Amino acid sequence: MTLAEKAKKVLDILEKEYPDAGIALRYKTPLELLVATILSAQCTDERVNKTTPALFKRYKKAEGFAETDIKELEGYISSINFFRNKTKNIQACCTKIVDEFGGKVPDTLEELITLPGIGRKTANIVLGSAFGKDALAVDTHVKRVANRIGLAESQDPDRIEDELCKIIPPKRWTKTTTLLILHGRNTCVAKKPKCENCHVKIHCDYFRKLP
Ligand code: SF4
Repeated sequence: MTLAEKAKKVLDILEKEYPDAGIALRYKTPLELLVATILSAQCTDERVNKTTPALFKRYKKAEGFAETDIKELEGYISSINFFRNKTKNIQACCTKIVDEFGGKVPDTLEELITLPGIGRKTANIVLGSAFGKDALAVDTHVKRVANRIGLAESQDPDRIEDELCKIIPPKRWTKTTTLLILHGRNTCVAKKPKCENCHVKIHCDYFRKLP
């Protein structure tokens, strides 16, 4: 079986397991998803989702985030890990969106990764989920699950993205992100993967090598 065939089988199984797979962060606009994704680094989506309703009610546009008093912005997100740094990132990001992109979140990878603090992972999440483009984001779950199953062989997220994009058709890239994240959260957890209950174990290299 080729790697592309294996990826197809794994994704078909996970799509059946998670028919409603989607991003857990709540947002209505690309800007909201961008901000929520910045906030979600080393923080649970649940915590972010509790924080963002008041934040997004207060700040509706990039101009608002860019021009506000930094202490006021900090106050809205102070329950989130590393809120001071994240406040700075959000403000720097929104300032550039205002200054260079007319106040609108850009919709290409090349432009998104020019924003302060925005890497390929966040850019691809925004492209895939907020702009409906084909985009595969590699977070810690995608990295772990893809390596264990044997769909990728690298610790470098950019290389993993490249390897996965070569064996998965573009129309499945965005869904692949959410499926592998869900599988990593629920079954293929970091410390003790629940292999016996795993629906994709027959295709998994890690499972095959278990004693
Ligand atoms: S068999 Fe185990 S290691 Fe492989 S994908 Fe499933 S849970 Fe992860």
